[in-house]
Amino acid sequence: MDIFDPINHSQALLEQLSVAINSNNESETKTIISSLTSDLEQIKTNTSTLQQQITLLSKNQSTTIKQTPIIIAKPELKSGCYIFSGEKGFFCPRCYDNHGNKVATSRLNSKQRICPACRSSLK
Ligand SMILES: [Zn+2]
Repeated sequence: MDIFDPINHSQALLEQLSVAINSNNESETKTIISSLTSDLEQIKTNTSTLQQQITLLSKNQSTTIKQTPIIIAKPELKSGCYIFSGEKGFFCPRCYDNHGNKVATSRLNSKQRICPACRSSLK
């Protein structure tokens, strides 16, 4: 279900409606109004589904927060690499941020390090 479909559709219908009204096309006007009515009905259904999901989510979230305090700390940045407390080595920030992979970087020279996975040079 794409929640924006009926909204986009009714916007298009509104444009058609103003054309139909301007050209005094009564039967076309009636058709468009009945389409708009069913679109609005669909939007109402979608919104009420979303409302239920939001209520559910916020219920779940408040219980989750109470049970588990956030333990994932953001890694520290050093020499352009991430270092994790309790782990030795310099890790590629790009691989960690994009894929959640901890890739140990290797030293290229005194100023630069390189990631063996994504080949980005870090300093
Ligand atoms: Zn990388």
